[in-house]
Amino acid sequence: MPELPDLEVMREVLAERVLGRPILTARAARPDILKTVSPPLDALAGESFREIGRVGKHLVLTVRDDLYVVMHLMVAGRLVLTGASTKVTKATGFLVTFADGEDLRLVENGSIKRAKVHLVAKPSDVDRVARAGVEPLSEAFTPEFLTQRFAGERRQVKKAITEPSWIGGIGTAYADEILFAAKLSPIRYVNTLKDEEIERLWAATRDVLRAGIEATRARSKGTLVSDEGRAAMQVYGRAGEPCRVCGKPIAEIRFAETHTFYCTHCQAGDKSIADRRSWLTR
Ligand SMILES: [Zn+2]
Repeated sequence: MPELPDLEVMREVLAERVLGRPILTARAARPDILKTVSPPLDALAGESFREIGRVGKHLVLTVRDDLYVVMHLMVAGRLVLTGASTKVTKATGFLVTFADGEDLRLVENGSIKRAKVHLVAKPSDVDRVARAGVEPLSEAFTPEFLTQRFAGERRQVKKAITEPSWIGGIGTAYADEILFAAKLSPIRYVNTLKDEEIERLWAATRDVLRAGIEATRARSKGTLVSDEGRAAMQVYGRAGEPCRVCGKPIAEIRFAETHTFYCTHCQAGDKSIADRRSWLTR
């Protein structure tokens, strides 16, 4: 799933590549990708994108002061720029055709097609944008914010930092990386975190996301890339491989559709996970 670093680099590349280009047409190749009916897609014809922003995991493309395209790529969505004559495959959900003969397409390979496109008069017309949490690279994200947000909340820290109405843009992969860097177990309850642990979590969040942006930017070389070719991470996706800090095998927890990767030694004081029915360790 594209997360803050992936989306931030997409935002930069889109700003380089699509701003100011006259739009010929826009259409939803998969009708249910479009979550709004008014304004109609025809409203984009003859306009151009003036600014590319991001709120959490949403990309916000400004057309006019009263017209925005808001996209959420969800699990498998990616954006591609391609010639308008390129065959429109079943994977294509949404297309913007520019007058110069190139398309911006939202594609989703595989069977999971959950990406969303909204055409709205203001970004906050999208409920999840209106309720978006604090941006973790903004000045508003401080250790004090975390202390206040977590007070009295009996919620595991991985779930807390991936809750989009609390903190924007962090998904399961970067959450695992952040918790590894912070040396915190993913299943710690946030209301038990000490001040020094909250400080570590805060610093790790910023460091890991900034490093993720740098790595993604270097990989993209000015093109639109997806999360698929992400550089090797410290723990995410590395079950059974040696921890790069202590050498012990990285453990994996599976719960519902989510996978969590962590080092039992570096993050959990070598303790195993209690509930083996729902938390599977290797
Ligand atoms: Zn370790």
